[in-house]
Amino acid sequence: MRIILFGPPGVGKGTQAKLLAEEFGIYHISTGDLLRAAVKSSTPLGLKAREYMEDGNLVPDEVMIGLIEEVLGSRKAQKGFILDGFPRTVAQARALDELFERLNIKLDRVISLRVEHEEVIRRLSQRRMCKQCGRIYNLQQLENGGASRCENCGGDLYQRDDDKPETSRHRLDVYVKETKPLKNFYRQSGRFTQIDGMKDIPVVHNTILDLLLKNGAA
Ligand code: AMP
Repeated sequence: MRIILFGPPGVGKGTQAKLLAEEFGIYHISTGDLLRAAVKSSTPLGLKAREYMEDGNLVPDEVMIGLIEEVLGSRKAQKGFILDGFPRTVAQARALDELFERLNIKLDRVISLRVEHEEVIRRLSQRRMCKQCGRIYNLQQLENGGASRCENCGGDLYQRDDDKPETSRHRLDVYVKETKPLKNFYRQSGRFTQIDGMKDIPVVHNTILDLLLKNGAA
C-alpha cells in the first residue's frame, strides 16, 4: 500500500499515519520527524533545516527532494509506505511523480484530511509529543488522567516550539499559500479523496480503512 496523507498542520496526519502503519506493517514516512531527528543530532541535513523549522517556514525544495529520494529508495520503503508531510509544494509533488516513475512505484491514494482553521490552532496549542519516539498526545487526554510520560516508551512529553501560537498561525498561512494548491494538482490525478478530519480519531481511522478497502488498496 502506498498512500499520501495530506492536510494542514495539526489535522491529525501523524496520528492517522501511525495507526495505519502499525495495522498494515508499512513504513510511516514523516518528513517532520526525520527533520527533527536530524536537527537533534546536528547532521548536515539538520543544520540546513533548523532555522526554517524554528520559524515555521518550509525547508527548501531541493533539500526535501534529496531526502525523499533517499528514503523511498531504502529497503524499509519496499513493503509500502504512508507519506506524512510530503509533498508540501507543487515542485515537490512534480519531483515525487518523477521519482515514482523512475522507481516504478504505483501510488494508491492521496487522502486529504480537512479541518477548520481555528480548530487547527486549538489542536496545535494542545499537542504534546514524546521526545523519544514522537508519539502524539493532546493536553486534554493527559489532564483526564492520562500518563504524564509516553505510554509507548516512557519518554518525556513536550510542546514543540513551532506549535506555540505565533508560529502555528504562520505555519497555517504557509500551508494555505504553498501546500493547499496541491489539492488541485492531485484532484486531476483521479486518486484524490477528501475526508472530514474534525471527527474523533477512531472515526477518521475507520473512514480511511473503508476507503482503502473500497479502492482495493488494502
Ligand atoms: P511537520 O512535523 O510535518 O509539521 O513538519 C515540521 C516542519 O518541518 C515544517 O514546519 C517544515 O519546516 C519542515 N518540513 C517538514 N516536511 C516538509 C516538506 N515536505 N517541505 C518543507 N519543509 C518541511
